[in-house]
Amino acid sequence: MNDEQEHDGMRTIGHFIGGDDVEDGARTQPVHDPATGRVSARVSLASPATVERAVTAAQAAFAAWRATQPLTRARIMFRFRELLERDAARIAALISAEHGKTIDDALGELQRGIEVVEYACAAPELLKGEFAKNVGPAIDSWSEFHPLGVVAGITPFNFPAMVPMWMFPLAIVCGNTFVLKPSERDPGAALAIARLLAEAGLPDGVFNVVNGDREAVDALLIDPRVQALSFVGSTPVAEHVYVTATRHGKRVQALGGAKNHAVVMPDADLDNAANALIGAAYGSCGERCMAISVVVAVGEAVADRLVALLAERIARLEVGPGTRPGVEMGPLITQAHRDKVRACVESGIEEGAELVVDGRDLVVPGHEDGFFLGACLFDHVTPGMRVYREEIFGPVLCVVRVASQEQAMALIDAHEFGNGACIFTRDGEAARHFTDHVQAGMVGVNVALPVPVAIHSFGGWKRSLFGDLCAYGPDAVRFYTRRKTVTQRWPGGGVREGAQFAFPSGASGR
Ligand code: NAD
Repeated sequence: MNDEQEHDGMRTIGHFIGGDDVEDGARTQPVHDPATGRVSARVSLASPATVERAVTAAQAAFAAWRATQPLTRARIMFRFRELLERDAARIAALISAEHGKTIDDALGELQRGIEVVEYACAAPELLKGEFAKNVGPAIDSWSEFHPLGVVAGITPFNFPAMVPMWMFPLAIVCGNTFVLKPSERDPGAALAIARLLAEAGLPDGVFNVVNGDREAVDALLIDPRVQALSFVGSTPVAEHVYVTATRHGKRVQALGGAKNHAVVMPDADLDNAANALIGAAYGSCGERCMAISVVVAVGEAVADRLVALLAERIARLEVGPGTRPGVEMGPLITQAHRDKVRACVESGIEEGAELVVDGRDLVVPGHEDGFFLGACLFDHVTPGMRVYREEIFGPVLCVVRVASQEQAMALIDAHEFGNGACIFTRDGEAARHFTDHVQAGMVGVNVALPVPVAIHSFGGWKRSLFGDLCAYGPDAVRFYTRRKTVTQRWPGGGVREGAQFAFPSGASGR
């Protein structure tokens, strides 16, 4: 069966299980082109039985995959990387058509995903373990890193290619098999990736995709064969996933929402700061977990000047369909999400913030039914307002005015989320104080989107991450493996021991 069946002229996007395209024929929901508002396909929503089938396929593939040399696994990743480069334009177009982001932005997310694949190509080095000779008489000791078994990934709509690639490349090279449950709002990229992995030579069942909603997620959370679960999405769902899956004995990392603050100091280069902030706030229509959604201006003069510079740049912002050359900001993901963001803007007005730029009436000619919302800029926002407290996940930037760096940092520390934070300054001491003390997991100095590169790991603090280990990089190698430490004695060379009753230690010569 082909996973993209035609029903009443409408394409249905199915699942990829054990190397086969599968459609379970149960519930479906529409997938939209956010730039036109039209339904472009329907996505099949997996039943628990389909999830069970995917986990069974992954479980069946595990024994052989676990026994496959890390070098062989890495070589498949090398080939996969080449195929991603070959098909980058096609996948970026697919992402843009379902998500709405610009083609350049889609290529950017793909590139960031490829960097994780490149890191995963170091599997033989990453998995070589730790060795200590002569920890006792004729005793050597080493740690090995074993795969866990079947692991699952549940991902959000906003990076349909990159976030899955934060997870499966490392999970797979570490010897695990994988079940991915992508966002039902833009499911196409995950299936394209599954096909490329198969083309790269990945054995059937090592990587499986089940499309679906809460029903599919809940089936994964309780399946005893799923050993570990990586989740990225909103905080309420992250918490639900973390609590439920840990209760079922799984290892879990659940990355949640954000409200990323940018502190602008009086000595900052304001033109540079405004340029960086405009992209970080409105790029991808604000639908990034590292988007800047709050600017904390230190001093009234900085605030006045910055608001003017931002408003000037917003006026020049090119909004339209992501596939049109020159467009800088596309539509929001769905009509429902646009309505939610718009309601949030209205709450800001009601609560007394000053709406300096109002994007609510934006119309993109020829795309009247698209899910567009123009860039909005609020000034004089205060911490009690909904626009400040909540993650809006749209093109809405709030300016909060404070008198000192300490006040700015106190705001960040008091916020529920602690994903990213950055400071714009020319003062090294101020920057060092900020990076040392601010309560956030990813920190920028004159960098508005401090997304860690693939050799580090990605994760926030507070309610932006449930669990101990971050996504990709060195943390992911630890997350997707379990340590086994072997202590081995081969007596020889006259080393002989009688019975010993004291607890063995280095001092006693064991
Ligand atoms: P979401 O929480 O609605 O969905 C994420 C995943 O969970 C999807 O696969 C979805 O099908 C599933 N899901 C949704 N509701 C569920 C429920 N009640 N029970 C079980 N599963 C459920 O998130 P989204 O709207 O797709 O993505 C946007 C959110 O993701 C934002 O909050 C954003 O900050 C966050 N995000 C965080 C990071 C990070 O690294 N911290 C990265 C990207 C996105």
